[in-house]
Amino acid sequence: MSAREKGGPVRTVTHYVNGQTSTGSGGRRQPVFNPATGERIAEVVLGTAADVDHAVESAARGAERWGEVSLGRRQGILFRFRELMDVRREDLAKAVTREHGKVLDDARGEVARGLEVLEFACGIPHLLKGDFSENVSTGVDAHSIRQPLGVVAGITPFNFPVMVPMWMLPVALACGNAFVLKPSEKDPTPSLMLAEMATEAGIPDGVLNVVQGDAEVVDALLVHEGIAAISFVGSTPVARHVYRTATDCGKRVQALGGAKNHLVVMPDADPDLAADALVSSAYGSAGERCMAISVGVLVGSIGDEVRKRVQERASRLTVTDGSEDGADMGPLINRAHLERVAGLVAEGEAEGAELVLDGRGLQVRGREGGFFLGPCLFDHVTPEMEIYRQEVFGPVLSLVRVDTSGDALGLVNRNHYGNGLSVFTDSGAAARYFTSKCTVGMIGINVPIPVPMAYYSFGGWNDSLFGANHIHGPDGVAFYTKGKAVTVRWPQKSAGLDMGFTSHD
Ligand code: NAD
Repeated sequence: MSAREKGGPVRTVTHYVNGQTSTGSGGRRQPVFNPATGERIAEVVLGTAADVDHAVESAARGAERWGEVSLGRRQGILFRFRELMDVRREDLAKAVTREHGKVLDDARGEVARGLEVLEFACGIPHLLKGDFSENVSTGVDAHSIRQPLGVVAGITPFNFPVMVPMWMLPVALACGNAFVLKPSEKDPTPSLMLAEMATEAGIPDGVLNVVQGDAEVVDALLVHEGIAAISFVGSTPVARHVYRTATDCGKRVQALGGAKNHLVVMPDADPDLAADALVSSAYGSAGERCMAISVGVLVGSIGDEVRKRVQERASRLTVTDGSEDGADMGPLINRAHLERVAGLVAEGEAEGAELVLDGRGLQVRGREGGFFLGPCLFDHVTPEMEIYRQEVFGPVLSLVRVDTSGDALGLVNRNHYGNGLSVFTDSGAAARYFTSKCTVGMIGINVPIPVPMAYYSFGGWNDSLFGANHIHGPDGVAFYTKGKAVTVRWPQKSAGLDMGFTSHD
């Protein structure tokens, strides 16, 4: 057993406020694990309301100056941030794999998706262009502008420690706001790396701050008078709490919650394509993606063909340390989550679903302390079962059999989540039917994980998102700015009193 496993000294993951690292005011700390080994590799400081005050004060000073910085200069700094992140993408990806456990190649993909949002934000001079109407009344012109909100905060989940903060902060900063980030306490290091890069790129001190912590910090952010808006991504119960508390305090809120994404396989689909898609999207990142497919809806006669192919492919996956060559799937985030997911598998079995593949009890040689669960596959799952009802967030795929496309759509739309839906079919009419009628925010036709590009916006419906705005893309710009309509007249001489309501001639 190493000194670190015995509880010896490890690296401390700090806050980042006003351009400097700090251990803050509180005494509480929490271990950070490498999920592939179970080893304690760092300790993260857990902030307090006093740390939030300190960060918001620093951000308020930052926002005052930053909001006045010209668009061209802001853009130049964002370009430099983009260059630094690009050069260091491998360091970021390795940090993600070390603390989250996902396969290195997947971590590289997450960094790439984060970079894409930064690239979108580099276009801010174009994105903030307002409208102009000449002569709305005689000699009167009208135009619109969008202005920053001031200090905004982001609260992020463990499953994308680079990408989800990058969904928020580049757009918020580009719009002229200062940002306070509260990353997940389970994998906090990549956020610090991003903040340090931003400073190096020229983002002024105080404009991007990171407060580490848990619910105590979140709750302090939600009610803080100095914060104008909250972006949240995480599970539905916490998203609901964040939305209610922060809107009650008069803040603008976008709170993205959990998911239960379905992939519908129509009878005319290619069963090999559909099986490839089901396996990659259900077991990629060990199912810890908000866009993971956790339910395969097999319509009619194709059911047995698809099941056979999914079983073959899933049983061949290599589950090991995500930093190892050839790994298809890494561990789950921690032991508590592993036990929760294994418990749901047991419940599914007890409720009568057919357990086709059982990944429980998997031991990875040389990584005996890791939080591993192999691929689990259920068939003949019904909507009443817990394994269907709950967001499992692990490598568990449930197959549900239905007779018609109408049954498939009904199943999807009765689910209280509404994040993503995928439909595999060769029929344009079927694709159009699902696209038009489904009550989810993001749909893929023959695309298993339909994550929108950075220049579109990302967000679900129903219990997958609370608030009006989706995240990043055009909705992100709208969320992080306030609109102002300006009406202008430059009179040459007095026209006398006009006591009436404006007439437009
Ligand atoms: P989580 O809800 O447990 O935590 C998210 C954030 O909230 C963390 O920063 C955490 O510290 C904080 N938090 C946790 N409990 C809290 C509480 N009681 N009060 C206040 N704050 C609290 O989520 P997670 O386990 O880190 O991430 C997984 C979840 O995130 C899944 O449900 C997944 O679907 C969801 N997710 C959604 C999206 C999306 O775009 N909709 C994207 C990624 C992840």
